[in-house]
Amino acid sequence: MSQGTHIQWTDATWVIAAGCNKVSKACRDCWAIVHAWRLAHNPNEKIARNYRGTVMKVGDKLNWTGKINPIEDRLNVVRKWKPQRIFVDSMSDIFHKGLPDDFRDMAFHVMADCPHHTFQLLTKRIDEGERYLQRFFPDGVPSHIHVGVSIADEEDAVKQLPILAQVKADVRWVSYEPALGRVNWHEWFRRQACNWVVVGGESRNQTAFEPRPFNIWWARELINEARLFRSLGVRVFVKQLGACPIEAPRHDGATGYQLKLKHKAGGNWDEWPEDLRVREIAYEKQ
Ligand code: SF4
Repeated sequence: MSQGTHIQWTDATWVIAAGCNKVSKACRDCWAIVHAWRLAHNPNEKIARNYRGTVMKVGDKLNWTGKINPIEDRLNVVRKWKPQRIFVDSMSDIFHKGLPDDFRDMAFHVMADCPHHTFQLLTKRIDEGERYLQRFFPDGVPSHIHVGVSIADEEDAVKQLPILAQVKADVRWVSYEPALGRVNWHEWFRRQACNWVVVGGESRNQTAFEPRPFNIWWARELINEARLFRSLGVRVFVKQLGACPIEAPRHDGATGYQLKLKHKAGGNWDEWPEDLRVREIAYEKQ
């Protein structure tokens, strides 16, 4: 909804729908659920109505209901914004089946009309996304629209990255957050499945769950592999080390210990080991 955001890899969020449902282990602590619940109870009716019915409370736990509320009056606001990076549909998933196709079409028309921005799509439904983008942009996705998937480990990568690789886009990217297991980045970069990866450990959200460990060896391996493929345009952005970062010499963390950081999401890079301080933006062909 707003332009400002605390998300380090973007400049603004563009909320054009609310609602979703959990589809992967990475969704366990979905921060958007708590946020949507609060907004649904906002005393300002104009705000509350956009979120009403999207979240339910069962016992002490919140979850999505599966209802998606398109927010039509937000569609055109980006036309007036100064040029910036914009995270699209941060309170839903742009390729959720519950979002009507005609509404999605309107959103993509706005994006196509605004090449002064960089639009960052992020989905856990790239199978739907690949079909849609192929239909909407038969000659390829314009270079100012970056197509991303969210994964937590190699199991997710195997499901999503081969499909992402089929999308005709200059920037195909991956949000590896919360990173919950090792990923074989060498293979995915070799296959040119993606060329920008944002990595992060899990935050402590206002849910009943404890943050899961983030072995910072996984980030180190990603950084090292990305360097090997730099000439292909591969770049990395280390977002945060999460609330439970483990310093370990091996990928299984068997001999690791927890790093004690003051920043609650491990997002202050002054506290990080020096070799992890890598924040590159996506490389765009000129
Ligand atoms: S896909 Fe994204 S918005 Fe939807 S439940 Fe998962 S984390 Fe939340």
